[in-house]
Amino acid sequence: MPELPEVETMVRFLRPRVQGAELEEVVAYDVALRASLRETRTPAKADLLLRRGKHVLLHTEDGQWTVIHPRMSGRLAWGQVDPDDRVRALWRFSTGEMRLVDLRRLATVGVFEGGEPALGLGPEPLEGLAWLPAVLARSRMPIKVWLMDQRKVAGIGNIYASEICFRAGIDPRRPACELRNVEVERMVEVIPTVLQEAIARQGTTLSDGRYREPGGQRGRFALQLAVYGREGAPCPVCGALVSRCVQAGRSTFWCSRCQR
Ligand SMILES: [Zn+2]
Repeated sequence: MPELPEVETMVRFLRPRVQGAELEEVVAYDVALRASLRETRTPAKADLLLRRGKHVLLHTEDGQWTVIHPRMSGRLAWGQVDPDDRVRALWRFSTGEMRLVDLRRLATVGVFEGGEPALGLGPEPLEGLAWLPAVLARSRMPIKVWLMDQRKVAGIGNIYASEICFRAGIDPRRPACELRNVEVERMVEVIPTVLQEAIARQGTTLSDGRYREPGGQRGRFALQLAVYGREGAPCPVCGALVSRCVQAGRSTFWCSRCQR
């Protein structure tokens, strides 16, 4: 579930605490993470914390990269966590402690040497979308499924793909190549707008309460969701009832009156 806005929120919170700090110790509480985390050399000075797609990348001065992928239920917490939070790993810095909390144990961690690891991701959607029209014109994938394909564009998952299609007024089932020029232009505008609005509200915490920013606060974008998770509720723009269908095994939510 953590998508670009949630992972970006984690990184923005952690960066000033981690960059320049000494990484003193790494502890794997989960056997599944022990092999990869054993490769981490400590002590080492952390000099870079960044986001690529839905991944968090930590770099140390001695040339190691740690790539953390929260997947469905993982999040990074700074400082103390709730007693019932399942902590799978701990990174102890000179400035404080970072924990990987992950109820469903689906998050992955990898440790790499040398240059920035290639993660097979498409371009970052907040770094300009001038390339989008030409690429959409070549794809027959439904536009919502296309948005969620990490090889095409990095960081967008089920929540924001539905919200972006709603904001653009586009039926999520339409093939990407059949969007008209004016609709593609709307996509270019709406994709970064929706993601930036979600970052400004520290991401989306759904009713399961699972995602929190590293300080433990809930993301406030859930109140802004127009269609995601709202099947049968009125569309905030026109009042028609929000529809749901399944695309590529995932729920899609949309308004059949606003989205054509
Ligand atoms: Zn509507």
